[in-house]
Amino acid sequence: MEAVSYDYLDNVVNIWRFGRKLTKHPYLAYFNIKYFAPPMIKLNFFNRAELKFAFESIGQGQLSPQELKAMYYCLDALVESVGGVLAAARNNEPVVWFDYTVPSIILNAFGVASICTSMVSKTPNYLGADCLIEHFEAAENAGVSSEICSMTRLPLGAVLMNQMPKPVALLTTAQPCDSGRTVSQMLDYLADAPSFVIDSIYDKDEESIGHYSADIMAMIEFLEKILDRKLDWDKLKTHVEELNLFNYYLREVSQMHRAIPSPGLGFIFLESSWPLRLFASGYPSATKFGKTIYDIGKQRITKDLHKRKKEEKIRVMISGAPMYFMDIYLWMQKEFHAYVVADYLVQTANPEIDTSTRESMIRGLAIDNLHLGMLRQSHGPVEFIIEDIENLIDEYSPDCLIFCGNIHCKHKKSVPKIINDTCKKTGVPTLNMSLDLFDPRANSEDTIKKQIKDFFINNGLV
Ligand code: SF4
Repeated sequence: MEAVSYDYLDNVVNIWRFGRKLTKHPYLAYFNIKYFAPPMIKLNFFNRAELKFAFESIGQGQLSPQELKAMYYCLDALVESVGGVLAAARNNEPVVWFDYTVPSIILNAFGVASICTSMVSKTPNYLGADCLIEHFEAAENAGVSSEICSMTRLPLGAVLMNQMPKPVALLTTAQPCDSGRTVSQMLDYLADAPSFVIDSIYDKDEESIGHYSADIMAMIEFLEKILDRKLDWDKLKTHVEELNLFNYYLREVSQMHRAIPSPGLGFIFLESSWPLRLFASGYPSATKFGKTIYDIGKQRITKDLHKRKKEEKIRVMISGAPMYFMDIYLWMQKEFHAYVVADYLVQTANPEIDTSTRESMIRGLAIDNLHLGMLRQSHGPVEFIIEDIENLIDEYSPDCLIFCGNIHCKHKKSVPKIINDTCKKTGVPTLNMSLDLFDPRANSEDTIKKQIKDFFINNGLV
């Protein structure tokens, strides 16, 4: 295997390692962060975007010691996963790339190092805006249109800059959108390794799930040939049982947010559970993260009810993938006592996977994947989006809805009237934003914050 450089990923893993060290003693971390937060904010993080983002990622002094403990488990799982990929690459062991739409837990059961290409979209954030822009420019210099979703352009940039360990295989799906589908082909071309594409399905009925499951089985056969080893089904069962536990805790935490006031865990949910799902599915540390936030949630909606009532003034629902290059969750909490109670990306309704047979496990993993944000809403008709909005409004009683309209989600751009009319019918005030979720060149943080502030004021929410 040819030698590769992956300095950016190395740096990100080092930042996670530092965060893990810091949060290992959560009470000490809590007081340190509280102490350093005001001067750091005042000094604008010495104008260093990476410091600002790292500080936001550990909650800017707004997380409790228990939440920092949850963060520790998350960072532990991320270090194990991505650190493991880098170590494997250095030892000339095989690495597999997969898109987030592929059930990566199967790769864990194969015992092969694997990295989620679309999750690499989040990692340049940790190194600051300049790093993000370098990734975009690398893709654009290779002729990739800026019309293509920035989430998919970022990993392409990482590959073009030789920042990703070379894979022995690439696993993708032909969904949920044109950006993902077309960028996969470019990744395939650059990876110069055999690839397997799980076919697109348009529905969620039995026939579609059967089709999806059959393709996952075919993908296992493909991997067995490439890796020259058999899938360890017992290991897969152990990992899926772990995933079941993780999903159980996250489902419970999602449901706790129906309570008024909610436990207010929106930020840590977004910051941690989405990366865990993509990078560390079935890892014990991911389950410990889930259990920790479950315990915090239970405590807050029972014993700390009085405190939460004082804290939560506005219940916010986020529809569409939330923006990633900046934090609005903590900012809304701090400025307006506005808490995100439902969010399209991390909302967990994934059902328990039946581990009794190989077939039931694969079918369960197919369904589990179809519950992931973009895949859940975007692989089929507009009804999937509408049902999601209506159900979440009904169940989570938000005071307002913020629609983070990603300019690249073309499948939503052709149906805005249907979405707008649905929001109007619910009577919940809606802010329809049009922005780029990952590209700081396209949006100003101040403009986005002003839009949200004006929306709260104009609707009498503050
Ligand atoms: S954010 Fe929209 S356009 Fe981008 S990958 Fe997801 S579904 Fe596709």
